[in-house]
Amino acid sequence: MPLTVKRPGRWTLRALLPWAVGAVPVLCGLVIMHLQAERALDARSQATAQQVVAQVELILDNISGAARSLLPLAGLPCMEEKLALRDQVTRRSFVRSTNLVYRNELYCSSLFGPYSEQVNASDYVDGKLWLMNGNSVTPGHPLLVYRVYEGERGAISTVDGDHLLTALRLIGPHTQLLLQVGRYWMGKDGLVHEGLAPAAAVAPVRLDSSHYPFSIHSGYEHGKIGQVMRDEYPALFGLLVFLGVIAGAVCRWMLRRASSPRVELQRAMEADEFLPYFQPVVRKGDYRWAGAEVLMRWQHPREGLVRPDLFIPYAEHSGQIVPMTRLLMQRTAQLLAPHAALMDDGFHIGINITADHCQDLALYHDCRNFLAAFPPGRVLLTLELTERKLIAPSEATQTLFAKLHELGVMIAIDDFGTGQSSLSYLRQFKVDYLKIDQSFVALIGVDALSLHILDSIIELSAKLELGIVAEGVETDTQRDYLARHNVDFQQGYLFARPMPIEDFVRALAAQAEVAPQRAEVAG
Ligand code: C2E
Ligand code: CA
Ligand code: CA
Repeated sequence: MPLTVKRPGRWTLRALLPWAVGAVPVLCGLVIMHLQAERALDARSQATAQQVVAQVELILDNISGAARSLLPLAGLPCMEEKLALRDQVTRRSFVRSTNLVYRNELYCSSLFGPYSEQVNASDYVDGKLWLMNGNSVTPGHPLLVYRVYEGERGAISTVDGDHLLTALRLIGPHTQLLLQVGRYWMGKDGLVHEGLAPAAAVAPVRLDSSHYPFSIHSGYEHGKIGQVMRDEYPALFGLLVFLGVIAGAVCRWMLRRASSPRVELQRAMEADEFLPYFQPVVRKGDYRWAGAEVLMRWQHPREGLVRPDLFIPYAEHSGQIVPMTRLLMQRTAQLLAPHAALMDDGFHIGINITADHCQDLALYHDCRNFLAAFPPGRVLLTLELTERKLIAPSEATQTLFAKLHELGVMIAIDDFGTGQSSLSYLRQFKVDYLKIDQSFVALIGVDALSLHILDSIIELSAKLELGIVAEGVETDTQRDYLARHNVDFQQGYLFARPMPIEDFVRALAAQAEVAPQRAEVAG
């Protein structure tokens, strides 16, 4: 059923769609946040590296200043110059020791005074800088050594690795930082390693000093981006989730709306998917077609031909039954009028209506338009009003039914016997026919006791001088029983099933041809 049955496949897709739509802003937002966090970390890593480079350059300026000012003293006796060496250590905050070199021999030290140690120029990057893993005074403790030379003279100053470590730790407490000098590097662990410094997993930056031969490597460990997203964008993340929930809810609402019976029926009306089917009503005696009941069918694009009991209740509930019936009447007139010549005068056309139709005079206009499509007197329009839902009598309904009567429109009570219409009800609405419900016809030849109800209905209609139609006639026994009891009209599968216009017109034409003989037989 197009309005209630949900195919499993479609249902899954429909159920998943709002989640997918809700996930889109969250995922897009997360991607943007990720990129944003990545860019922020890149900038931070770059800035941190710059600060560390500046700080290490400051330290090197300090110790190179000491070496340069001592250089003219190189080659002079150590005993005379050692005070000058100590003076530099005292004055300059970063200098740990100063040394004089002559002909590649370190011969004077601020720490020991006269001393002797070979200086190997190749230990120094660019002949200037050496990151040492300790010396004889502090083995295993990092030391950065600066060397200046001029011919045979040279001066060396050193800075304690602790100053470098402090720079790394204080400037970038949450950054992976290391100082690379030639093939040696020192990280925040305060140890000197040999080889290529490992690149950071996130936002790796390598910044070379423009003044001294060293570089700073900066970056972050794995998971840093996630941490930044969690720590720095919680409000944004909350907003994304909120947007996701809103998007999902809107999608769900739209899906529901799009598939609501009301919207589906409206769409079907606009697509002209409701068709009239015709079921003949035969008269007593010759069983010739005296008319037809118009039964609505829904030519659904996916479900095929849909029975009315599967959608009429929704249409009644939503009030759409009124415009649907109007369209059905227009379509019926359009399809049938060109074949009016095939019908006898006073050919009954039964249209099913509901209480909703009786609120105003619109039904009257619909009936007038319907009748105007046929030659005068050709068609006898009968409105079938089910007994299951009675109309509340009011001034409006009274006016309507009076006007309908003036127009020559007949009123039939459908499914008679299943409701509680009273005598006054039948009079009030100027009822012309009773349509006996199929459940009573089905009793014929089955339940002799209950059959009395059917007999009583037939008797009642005779007493009230109402025409009577029996519907749901399926067997010869039923047909003959009803004929014996003088029932005016019969309708049922025994005679014909509801059929599309082409079949109906074809059968009508065939009947028109045999009409004279049938009439004779009957006569
Ligand atoms: P209904 O007005 O009582 O129409 C008679 C129903 O009985 C039709 O079902 C018809 O196909 C079926 N029928 C006819 N002869 C036999 C038979 O010999 N045996 C059996 N078992 N059934 C038979 P259908 O076409 O499925 O319509 C069902 C109901 O839907 C109708 O009952 C009517 O209440 C409603 N309906 C149909 N078209 C319209 C419409 O245009 N407007 C409104 N408001 N209701 C409609
Ligand atoms: Ca009916
Ligand atoms: Ca009925």
